[in-house]
This record gives sequence, C-alpha cells and structure tokens, in this order.
Amino acid sequence: MKLLLIALLVLGNTQWITSYEAFQTEEFDSLDGWVIQNQFEATTDIITKCSGKNIIGGLKTFGTKSTATKLIKVPPHYKLKFNLQLWKIGEWENDVFSAYVDGVPWEMKWGFTEGGIRLCGGSESKNSDKVFDVEFEILHNSPTVTTVLATTAQGKADVQAWGFRQIKISFIPCPSDCGICHNDKVQECKYWNQEALSWFHVDTKLEGWKLENGKPKGFECSGIVIFGGYENIGAKALLSNTFTNIVPHSKVMVKFTFWKIDLWDNEEFYVKIDDKQVQKLAFQKTDGIDLCGAKQTNPGYGEKIVSIEIIQKHSSPTLTISFTTSLKNDPDEQSWGVRDFFLFAAQCTKFCDECVGTAENECTKCQPTHTLQDGKCINKNEWYILSKEFFTDDQFNKIDGWTFQDFDPAGPNPPITKCGDLGLVGGYQAFGKKATVQKVFKLPKHDFVRIKATVYKIDQWDGEELTMFVDNQEFWSQFLGWNDPGQSDICGNQNGSWKERIMTIDKIIAHSQSELTVDFKSTLQKTADEASWGFREFLLLYSPLKECIEVFSECNYKGQSSKICDNVESLKDAQIEFDIKSIKIPEGLKITGFKNPGFKGDRVEYETNQELIDRKSEIYKQMIDQYENNPTFWNKFSFAGGPTQLPRSVLHKLEKQFIQPNGKSILELSKYDHEYHQILDQAINDLQSLLDIPNQYKIIFCQGGASLLFEAIPMNLMKTQHSSISYTNTGYWSSKALEEAQKFCQNVNIATNIAQDEFGKRFIPELEQWNINKEDSYLHYCDNETVEGLEYQFIPKFSSVPIVTDMSSNFLTKPLDWSKLDLVYAHAQKNIGIAGSTLMIIKPELINNHQNIPYMWDFKEMFKKQSLISNLPIFPIYVNTLVFDWIRKQGTLDFWDQYCKKRSQQLYKIIDNSHGVYINQVKKEQRSRINITFTLKDEIETNKFIDLCKNNNIIEVKGHRAIGGCRICLYLPIPQIGIDKLSLIMEDFMN
Ligand code: PMP
Repeated sequence: MKLLLIALLVLGNTQWITSYEAFQTEEFDSLDGWVIQNQFEATTDIITKCSGKNIIGGLKTFGTKSTATKLIKVPPHYKLKFNLQLWKIGEWENDVFSAYVDGVPWEMKWGFTEGGIRLCGGSESKNSDKVFDVEFEILHNSPTVTTVLATTAQGKADVQAWGFRQIKISFIPCPSDCGICHNDKVQECKYWNQEALSWFHVDTKLEGWKLENGKPKGFECSGIVIFGGYENIGAKALLSNTFTNIVPHSKVMVKFTFWKIDLWDNEEFYVKIDDKQVQKLAFQKTDGIDLCGAKQTNPGYGEKIVSIEIIQKHSSPTLTISFTTSLKNDPDEQSWGVRDFFLFAAQCTKFCDECVGTAENECTKCQPTHTLQDGKCINKNEWYILSKEFFTDDQFNKIDGWTFQDFDPAGPNPPITKCGDLGLVGGYQAFGKKATVQKVFKLPKHDFVRIKATVYKIDQWDGEELTMFVDNQEFWSQFLGWNDPGQSDICGNQNGSWKERIMTIDKIIAHSQSELTVDFKSTLQKTADEASWGFREFLLLYSPLKECIEVFSECNYKGQSSKICDNVESLKDAQIEFDIKSIKIPEGLKITGFKNPGFKGDRVEYETNQELIDRKSEIYKQMIDQYENNPTFWNKFSFAGGPTQLPRSVLHKLEKQFIQPNGKSILELSKYDHEYHQILDQAINDLQSLLDIPNQYKIIFCQGGASLLFEAIPMNLMKTQHSSISYTNTGYWSSKALEEAQKFCQNVNIATNIAQDEFGKRFIPELEQWNINKEDSYLHYCDNETVEGLEYQFIPKFSSVPIVTDMSSNFLTKPLDWSKLDLVYAHAQKNIGIAGSTLMIIKPELINNHQNIPYMWDFKEMFKKQSLISNLPIFPIYVNTLVFDWIRKQGTLDFWDQYCKKRSQQLYKIIDNSHGVYINQVKKEQRSRINITFTLKDEIETNKFIDLCKNNNIIEVKGHRAIGGCRICLYLPIPQIGIDKLSLIMEDFMN
C-alpha cells in the first residue's frame, strides 16, 4: 500500500489529470451547464455550425458583452491548465478575448490584420476568421473554479463574433497526504485540517453565519449561486461567524470567493479576523464584466470575482471572522456576495495542545496525558482496553451492543459490508443519508478515555460532514468530498470515478463518568448507493484512576487527612506523621497495618470504613485480586522467558496462607503432616484429569529443574551402557539436553538439526529426513523451543522407539496424544507455578535397572518413595495446585490450545504487517504459540523498543542472549489485557 501511494505521488507530480472536458466531438447539442449572457438578439441558437463543426456561440450569436460561465469542482490541486479552441469571427479592432479563472484574466488581443479566410459565412474580408488553440496554466487550489469567457468586442455579432469548442480543464493534484496545497511538498500541506465550510452548495443559506443589515438569501449570478448579492447585501451589511472547537493549531487559512456586483466607485471590502483587519480590497468603476445584477447598460455595472486566501498566525480554539464594506448605496445599486468559504487550521502534532508550528518538535504544551520533552509529547498515562471491536479482516460475526438506525433497508442486515478485502460496519449500500450508529459503554473508574477507529468515506461526498460524538459532544469531525487527502478507489460504486478516503481517529479526552456513549452521524444528503461511510478497528481505551485509601487524624473522618495510594514500607514513606484514628476505604480495597516496618509484627486488617481506630499501627494498603483482567492488579506485565507471573487470584490466595493463627503455615509443612500429602495427591490427581493421563503412566514430582532431568533421563532410560540414544538438535534447549546426554552416553545419535530456508527462516525438517536407529533406547525432543520460538506441530514417532519430550515451555497448553508419548517432563515456572517443582509423566517400563545411579537422580527410587526421596518442597507444589485449579476453571485444554493460537496470532499479525519493522525468523507453520520472537533493524531500534515497553510497564521483552532481538512469552497466566497493551505499543512504535 505504501509503495502504491508513493508511486501515485511521483506520477502526480508530472501528470495532468483531466477534471472537465466538453464539446470535443464535431457535433453536440447540449450546453453542458454553461450559462450564456447577452447573446446577440438576432438569433436564439447558442450552438451554431461553422465549417461543418458545432461551436458554442459564433456568428450572430456571441458579440459585444456576451459571456459564457461555468463553475466546476476539482479535487485537491495546486495548478490548473485550460485548453480551448477559440473561434474569432469577423473583423476585430484590437479587441480582447478573456478567460477569467476565479476573476483572474487570461487575455488575447486581435488587431485588424489578424485572421484568415471566411469560415463561418460572415464578412468577405480576407482577415476575417481564425481558429486558435488556446492553452494556459494558472496557480489555483480552491475546490471550485469559476470560468467566465468574454470579449471587449464592441461590434454587433453579425460583424464581430466569437465562439469556442473543445474545452478541457486539467489539474496537478496535491500530494496524497494533503487536502489543500500550494505546491508538491507534503511537509508544507499535510497539517492543514479543514475546520469549516459554507456556501459550497446550490441551496445557499445563512449556514450558521450572522448577518446584520441585509437579506440572508442566495442570488444566482450567471448560473452560479452566491450568498448575498444583488438586492440582498450592500451598504452597512455585516456578515460574521464565530468558529469554536478548532483543533490545536499555530495558524489558520481562510479561503473564499468574493463577488463584487454592480457599480462600486473606489469603495472597499474588509475582512477581519478576531477584530483585526486582515484584508482590504478596493474596486474601481471600470472593474468587472456584466454578468448579473442591475439591468443597467452604463459602464461600471460589471461583476468581478476575486479568489481570496488569507493565512494568519492564530492559536486560540475560537476564531471570529467578519466581512464589511464602505458602500453607501442600497443593494439594488451596489452589492456583494460570497461563496466557497473554507477555514483550515495548521494542526499541531498529535496530543499537542499548543504549538508554535506544525513540525514534530514545535509543541509548547501537551494534553494532560502527555509530557512535553524537546517539543514532543510523550505519553505518560496507562491505557487499558475496554473494548476492541471489528479488527478481523473478514466480515464481523459479532456486533456487541451497537445499535444502527436509518441504514439502507435494501442493504445487508446487520449493516456489515466489505471494502476491498476488509470488513466494515456500514459502508457501500449500508450507511448513507441519515444513518446513525450508537453504543453505550460502561467503564471502571477512570480520568481519561482514548478512542481509536478507522473510518471510511466511500464514493461521492459533496462537502458534507461526518462526526463522531462522545456523550453528545462532538469528538471528531471531518468535512468530506472536496479537500480529501490520499484517496484510492477500493470499494463502493465501481462505475463512478469517486474514490474512498480512509481516516484514522486517535483522540484523547478527559472523561470520568461511568458510562460513555459513542455516536456516528453525518450530514450526508445522498443514499447509500451514491455516497456512504463505514468504520472498523474500533478501540476504546481508558486510563484507570488509582483508588486511594484516606486516613484521618481524628475519629469520624476529621482532623488532618492523607491518602495512601500504593503499598508503603512505613507511614513515613507515605508522609503521614499523625496517628490514624479513622479510615475511608473504597469498595474492594483492603488496608493491612503492621506493628513493625517492612510488613512485620502484629497486623490488623480492615476492608470497610473505620470511624474509630483505637490502635497505633504502621499501615499500608494492599489490593485485593477480584478478577484477572482488572488492570488495577497488574502494575507490570512481564513477558519473561521464566519464571513468569502468576494469576492474580493465585497470588491473593497465597497471601492468605503464610500466617495461620491456628495451625502451621504452608511454608512450615513437612512430609509428616497430613496436609503435605493432601497437597501432593491433589497435584497428581489434578494433573491426571487435566491432561487425561492413562493409568499406566506415573506422575513424579522432583527437584532440580528440567536440567536435572537432562542428566537423569539418559542415566535411567538407556537399555545398556552401550546403547544408542537419539536427540534432536532443533534449538537452544534441545541442544543443552543433547550436550548433557553426551556426557553420559558414548553413542548419541543426532536425529535432526535445525534447518534454515532460503529466507533464513528456521524450521524443523520433515520426519522422512530424520536419522533414527530402531535400536535406540529412546528419542528425545523439545516440543517447544523456548529461545527460538519454534514449536513442533507433530510428535516424531518412529516404530517402537520410545519418545521423550521436554514440554517445559508449552506444558498444559494443549491436549496430548498419549498413544505416541512415553515420557513428558516440564518444570513449573512458566505455565504452572514457580521455580522449585519439576514433574514427569512416565511409563514405568521405560526405566532400566542400572545399579550405579546416584540416589537423587534415580527414577526407581522416585517411584518407590512416590516422589518423596528427600524433603520435597511442598510450597511450589501447592502453587501448582492453585494454578491447576485456575487453569481448569478457565476451560479445557482444547480451549487453551485455541486461546494460545489466537493470542500468538495477534502478535504475529502485527509483526507480519509491520513492513519489516519486526521480523520473525521462524517458518510460519512452526511458529510457537507461546514464545514469539522477533528482531528489529538493529540494536539501537531494539533498545528503543525495549525502553518504550519499560516506560509503559511492560517488562522483560528482551530476547534470549543466545539469539538476541526480542521475545514475548505468552505463558498461561499472562492476561489478555497485557497482550492487548503490548499490541498497542508495538503498533505505536511502528508508527
Ligand atoms: N527446557 C526448556 C524448553 C526450557 O525452556 C528451559 C528453561 N527455560 C529448560 C529446559 C531449563 O529449565 P530449568 O531452569 O528448570 O533447568
């Protein structure tokens, strides 16, 4: 897409695009909207024939004072080119032909001797008729152009006449990021944001302006409708408007066309912005040509069009503009009018409230959610996702809580369509005239909201407005149709030449109510098959308010007061110097006080307001875990390789276990305690049912981590001391296992190595290419290579060779096929708990009767003693039981498998769509669902990304030292809100 836009931009610089073309064929019979004034009275035909060709005008038709006028609309551009064929007929005496473009004349003069033979049947003179191909260029950037063709010829049209044919107007477009421009430089125009538009349509009204001393009406002048004009606005008229809510900006541009009508005698027209005169134009008696107004033939009763552009330093969100004149007579003698009024603001950079210019580093004040650093706005708020909708590529199958009104009944219901390859809410033949969309959201306590969305304008809009409201206040709004940057034709009516515009909203507002209503509305006048709109990728984020506990020095919440918003080691740290006598505790929070600093000694707990406390304690506040996805309980998200985070509810339960007033603490249990055995049995039973483990397998808990099993497995499983064993070498951890096995066994066969394809992507070769010995005592592989982020999609089963699998990093993330597995092992600190417990699920017949295995490594001993070969650390196993319980409550292992796929896909999609900002080095089919690895351009970019994450409380995203880059580990307890937050940061970093 980017490439395409750049290509268009380059073409745009060199190519003229035709905007209007008429009267090209030899014969035509329509005027195509051209308005003709003062044609010679002798004839009624405007189109005549000359030398076999039709022309507009011609002999006996266009003579003195004849004019031809037309207004056309042109997409964003900065240069126009006019081509027309002009027919000069009869004898001209130094008369001038003029083409006025918004009042600016292009002129051509003919003397006596210019001309050729008779073409149109008029004079016999040998200098009579001539055909000229006229071509001229003009700098121009308003979305409309008024063209007036006229002459100064004084003779009657049977002697001196003119006509034209083959007219063409072409333009050079603005750079694709700009809706208005003065040249081809993107940097000089992309910041212009259209803020207002008036008098652009045919049905011209007051349109929100204030008019004193005049009639608020439109007037048609030679086919063109202006506001004001003849008999409406003249002496003493004051036309003004105040625009509010202008985006933060450093300057404004005002553009409009002014029409001077009838006889002005050195009188002036004034423009004021915020009470300061910014423009003064004087008009002479001789100015203009007669197009409309008073029916007077006296000289001076002419009309003049002036295209006005004013660029002015300005930064206030409110701007008042006024138009007045020094006229003295009634509007039937001298008058004026306006049309095509536009207000643009040179927008400050994103999240900047005040700026001195539009460059990246010219901000002087940021929004409250951002801090100013070297002229830039850096985000300081925490953002949490409340709602993320319509992000899938295809059509959306879930429309939660949105209501649609007045959408096209002939279109789909619900109104979901596609634009190009992507699904849209609304869109072509769905949302046109009157269609509205609404959703009401409920929010936790917060102080700001941020809304992002991608909005599509489809087909031909005509300066109408699309607006998003938040709680009935305008939140985002855009005029569409004539100052649209960056368009492409991807959906909608494929017959029209109208293109789509894709806009991204990303705005923050202060907001604290618990409910928020989002509405989309438009002023569109057309049905959804002519012009439409839609949206996708809707994201509502909020910045949660940290709730605080309030403490007071007197009972009944009186006296001095202070707030505790975080855990504090001592009251001194919270700057509380008084004894606490009463406490206000928001719902869901708890405060625990300790006698001694460092959370030690006697403790007291309160969960509700306390009117009177008769006790002196060191107090700190503690959060209670209510649910996993509550951001309040995740101060930081860690995507570490392991140990990783625990479910918050597990942490909360654990916290309660340490101090048991009536018994032993969990930390004090020994194998002689009943509870100790209960915990171990629970863990084994839970595991068996979670993983559906057949009865012939034994579940053993041991110590020493997966690394101990790297050594113990060859010791226990080799059939004889000289047997061969097979190992895969598909990543960092399988190679570690292989290395350990080699210390013990002379005969280690490498079944396969990791391979790389022509793009440098790592992959595991197909089973056919592996090298296995039928006599091998076993084949060892690592099902998920934690460091590389590569995961097996199959179990490498070879005839009767037993299969031994290290599942440390993807344990319990999917169901297992026990018909192919003989030994599965994993440590706990990734998916199921904390470091300290390691487990294996093994078929007992696999173990061979070696005599000389040291006791702590000996599987036979582990069996015999049912894991209790030494004092097995029961606390980590207790944590395992809590996590097992948590896993089971969330869903089956099929659910977890799908969930892991979906979560990892969310990040891989960002990586794949990042245009190389992030690169994953694993073949697509074998990418891990758990460990997502990627590299960035270089170390500087990598560190920048890591720092950005850190600043947003996302930690440990650095890749393993063996391969560098970054790694995101999505172990089971990692909450979705953390992944969503990381996704946002990855996208922000990309942009
Ligand atoms: N196997 C795999 C797949 C691993 O990811 C790791 C550690 N990250 C290990 C083994 C080593 O585990 P331990 O620290 O428990 O020895």
